[in-house]
Amino acid sequence: MTDNKNPQPSRSSPYEEPLRILVTGGAGFLGSHLCRRLVMDGNEVICLDNFFTGHRRNIQDLLDHHDFELIRHDIVNPIFLEVDRIYNLACPASPIHYQYNPVKTIKTSVMGTINMLGLAKRVRARVLQASTSEVYGNPQVHPQPEPYWGHVNPIGLRSCYDEGKRCAETLCFDYHRQNKVEIKVARIFNTYGPNMDIDDGRVISNFIIQALRNIPLTIFGDGSQTRSFCYVDDMVQGLIALMNTPEDFTGPVNLGNPKEITIMELAEKILRLTGSSSTIDHLPPPADDPIQRQPDIALAKDKLDWQPTVSLDKGLGHTISFFESILSRESAS
Ligand code: NAD
Ligand code: UDP
Repeated sequence: MTDNKNPQPSRSSPYEEPLRILVTGGAGFLGSHLCRRLVMDGNEVICLDNFFTGHRRNIQDLLDHHDFELIRHDIVNPIFLEVDRIYNLACPASPIHYQYNPVKTIKTSVMGTINMLGLAKRVRARVLQASTSEVYGNPQVHPQPEPYWGHVNPIGLRSCYDEGKRCAETLCFDYHRQNKVEIKVARIFNTYGPNMDIDDGRVISNFIIQALRNIPLTIFGDGSQTRSFCYVDDMVQGLIALMNTPEDFTGPVNLGNPKEITIMELAEKILRLTGSSSTIDHLPPPADDPIQRQPDIALAKDKLDWQPTVSLDKGLGHTISFFESILSRESAS
């Protein structure tokens, strides 16, 4: 049994050779936390990123580490590396970023995932695919369990991301059935924390920055839509626990915090935690914006012995401190 408060190292024994682990999208928000944790656990980590939404500053502290290597590369193009494990995180995750060049977003999810699965097949590596709650679309089943097939618009503005990620899941299972590639599919629900980009456009970073600048918080629609927010440390722990499950467990498995909140409640909470004098502006809702989202994490609890431990108030506190330091550095320069 693993204990969430005392995370197990990702190497199964300190006497084993270190694992060589490739993290695509490793300079992004989630990837940078994952790289750091994997290096701290004694693994050799190769971070691969095209810097579309990621930044060197997210992994600055790792650049001189002897077990860390950074490669600028776009996963749409093949690459040949000797690795034991691949965390395939490369893909813009914020709606404004994945809709900026939708064709490229699909290429990243489809061609990029083929390249990573092809690499895994050649070198017999295990692959963890960062899938998403967006595979459930605007769900008609609530909360969402893994057997639910979802309710996705195939031709809307979000489809490049949703359908790209759905196809990536299909590819994982076809490489698994056809080529015996070891796969783990994580359906990641909304995750937040330090290292989110200031211009990321996702709701938590937007609201915190707006609150700290004392400008109106932008709520899209009436704010009655819900999300369930997971702190990044919990997510990293879940991803590593999934990667380390026995070979016959593929997922898909939901990873997220089941505590659901409306966007209006989130705005009020952030105003309270920051002591901001911001008001609230209501803007038109984006097309196909899911009305509700909450993970059913029974499978993760059972197979990974995992559940989130960081409360929203505590996680927001860490995230607010991060953005305060970014903004104070900006105003000093
Ligand atoms: P992010 O945008 O901060 O990070 C994505 C990283 O991938 C960036 O560093 C970017 O430069 C890189 N990238 C994008 N396209 C690439 C390409 N073609 N080749 C190489 N690198 C490329 O996003 P994130 O929040 O860290 O998300 C990481 C992964 O987790 C994504 O696959 C995303 O779909 C998934 N996910 C995240 C969330 C969340 O709430 N954060 C929720 C569901 C799924
Ligand atoms: N949202 C909002 N104001 C913002 C950014 C987002 O009201 O400034 C809403 C958005 O419409 C959605 C929710 O917050 O209903 C979560 O949006 P986000 O982009 O963070 O993630 P996703 O829609 O992918 O869950």
